[in-house]
Amino acid sequence: MEFFNRSLYNYHGLQTILNRSYKCGYCGNKVSSEKGYRIGKQRDGSGEQVGGIYICPNCLGPTYFTTNNEQIPGESIGNSVSNVPEELNSLYEEARKCMINNCYTATVLICRKMLMNIAVNQGAGEGLKFIEYVNYLAEQGYIPPNGRHWVDHIRKKGNEANHEITSMNQEDGKDLLIFIEMLLKFIYEFPNLVPKK
Ligand SMILES: [Zn+2]
Repeated sequence: MEFFNRSLYNYHGLQTILNRSYKCGYCGNKVSSEKGYRIGKQRDGSGEQVGGIYICPNCLGPTYFTTNNEQIPGESIGNSVSNVPEELNSLYEEARKCMINNCYTATVLICRKMLMNIAVNQGAGEGLKFIEYVNYLAEQGYIPPNGRHWVDHIRKKGNEANHEITSMNQEDGKDLLIFIEMLLKFIYEFPNLVPKK
């Protein structure tokens, strides 16, 4: 991912600012940047730097660090997975984007929907309850050994988000996203990496 062709265009008047290492929410790389626009402690922008906008040296995407040291967009969670059917993949990437933008309940709800989708793709019937889909995946061997607590965890989180509409936190979103990534790799990516006879 690149925001624009750097041989043709550029930001105007970038400042050299306090060096900062962070995981870029756009390209996912761990980067170190000293280019951007500073926020200074004085009203005219001078004085000690207390925040700013950092330009990713890899993808040129702008990341805002608030004066409270919050990173926007935040770190991306998980990795892209190959060979995933297009519909499912766009849902997965949307869930990852929700995480970056601190929309944790939305992440959980998308992941929950994806679990049902994946189960149907793997042969489960339509119109089952969420719990039945999760059980189906476990019964079909898609949950790794010693992963039973994962199933219980996901089941609980998925139900909470759907029925009670309690808002989810970062950990909840992260857990589900990691679980979905594992499933996608297991079901779609790994089988395609093995040389076929
Ligand atoms: Zn980047």
